[in-house]
Amino acid sequence: MIAPRNAMPTQDPQERARNFDEVALGYTAEIAKAEATRCLNCKNRPCVEGCPVHIHIPEFIAKCKEEDWEGAYGIIAESSSLPAICGRVCPQESQCESKCTLGVKFEPVAIGRLERFVADTHNSLGVLPAKPRSNGHKVAVVGSGPSGLTAAGDLAKKGYQVTVFEALHKAGGVLAYGIPEFRLPKSVLEREVQSLKALGVDFETNVVIGKTLTIDELFENGFEAVFVGSGAGLPIFMNIPGEGLKGVYSANEFLTRVNLMKAYKEDSDTPVDKGGKVVVVGGGNVAMDAARVALRLGGDVTIVYRRSLAEMPARKEEIEHAEEEGIKFEMLTNPIEVLGFRNPDDPKDPRNGRVSGVRCIRMRLGAPDERGRRRPVEIEGSAFEMQADTVIMALGTSPNPLIKKTTPAICYNNRGGIVVDEEGLTSMKGVYAGGDAVTGASTVISAMGAGKTAAMAIDEFLSNK
Ligand SMILES: Cc1cc2nc3c(=O)[nH]c(=O)nc-3n(C[C@H](O)[C@H](O)[C@H](O)COP(=O)(O)OP(=O)(O)OC[C@H]3O[C@@H](n4cnc5c(N)ncnc54)[C@H](O)[C@@H]3O)c2cc1C
Repeated sequence: MIAPRNAMPTQDPQERARNFDEVALGYTAEIAKAEATRCLNCKNRPCVEGCPVHIHIPEFIAKCKEEDWEGAYGIIAESSSLPAICGRVCPQESQCESKCTLGVKFEPVAIGRLERFVADTHNSLGVLPAKPRSNGHKVAVVGSGPSGLTAAGDLAKKGYQVTVFEALHKAGGVLAYGIPEFRLPKSVLEREVQSLKALGVDFETNVVIGKTLTIDELFENGFEAVFVGSGAGLPIFMNIPGEGLKGVYSANEFLTRVNLMKAYKEDSDTPVDKGGKVVVVGGGNVAMDAARVALRLGGDVTIVYRRSLAEMPARKEEIEHAEEEGIKFEMLTNPIEVLGFRNPDDPKDPRNGRVSGVRCIRMRLGAPDERGRRRPVEIEGSAFEMQADTVIMALGTSPNPLIKKTTPAICYNNRGGIVVDEEGLTSMKGVYAGGDAVTGASTVISAMGAGKTAAMAIDEFLSNK
């Protein structure tokens, strides 16, 4: 007899829709043990294949069954450097849990929730790692997102003197500026950064590589290898009329203002539009985050997505949470114009030049595209208008072109991604890259995997030097 999967305790939807506290409250030790006992410990371990960094999942779960949380943490830490983060934000349902043998007939083991519990239990002990003996080699890491943090951590553990250069004033990349507090408390990220500092990693914030310093200058300053994990922070817009109106944001800008520049605090002087009717365009995790943040700022929020629910790329859990909190969805709908306010009688009316609505058109699903997703097709004559005070475009991002401009030796593909070999080596000797800067917008765990691969290659390169 297999017990049902243990639900994640969460904050009440009505309550959480008005605060920024974490939505998922985490398992207790009792629930974690009960969930671990559901694992069949099957021989072929398909879940490990489903994990991009190949955590030894059945082994760590076996330790959970024995309530040996530190033993479980040790096993996870062999493969993953950010388990408290991955346990919260990884799309486990399409990775490890999608391969779980139990999932064929029943619900899969809640691997991500167990990972989170184990990592949080370890972190609550407040033990920081000891600084390893230096091997005398200096490595620069550009960007402090999950790829950069992982590369920095793995290299520091081997004794490299690592400096992370970060363009923003805070380390963490999307983990700091994009993913909101209610999904990933900043204290969890801060703990990981503190651990890296304890390993000896230096963080230089407010340094834009490609502008403040070039990659060539990093080598001139004594760095022997560089890892570029600069992410994909350049927002994509629809190129429809009205996108330049006041009140139209890219999701990245909106989330950065709220998360990193603390616009959610009542006493904050960071300007951001709060309340009113908010239209969020897109169907990914970024759209869900922007919508749920706008809701918590008092907005009446509608997500507009051009395909149907089945094609939405956001995590199922995020869509469900958004629905529970009262966010509305307009599916099979695409904006064709952002409408602006104009008071012809009063040119000084502060509403002039602001968003007043969105003209949309209804869509139907046509034949599948090259990725197998059914292509949305406009339904002629179906245009209609929606009222809006704020419009947030969450349509995806592409890699930042800054480094490209000042380092012509690095090759890029036609989507703006850095071209690398299987070890993460770019076309420039000693320069490695990984994460969204290479793949375009992807996931935390794949960025971490790329940081890990590059750290191994850098170690080999410098050991043979
Ligand atoms: C709002 C949002 C929600 C998301 N939710 C999820 C989720 O739930 N689960 C999931 O798996 N993935 C999620 N993702 C995707 C995931 O966060 C990214 O795939 C991942 O962060 C990429 O990591 P990275 O290290 O490549 O880059 P990033 O996290 O983008 O970090 C890059 C860092 O480099 C810095 N930088 C850029 N250029 C320079 C320069 N020239 N000099 C110095 N520093 C520079 C940037 O400021 C940034 O801090 C989300 C993304 C967003 C935007």
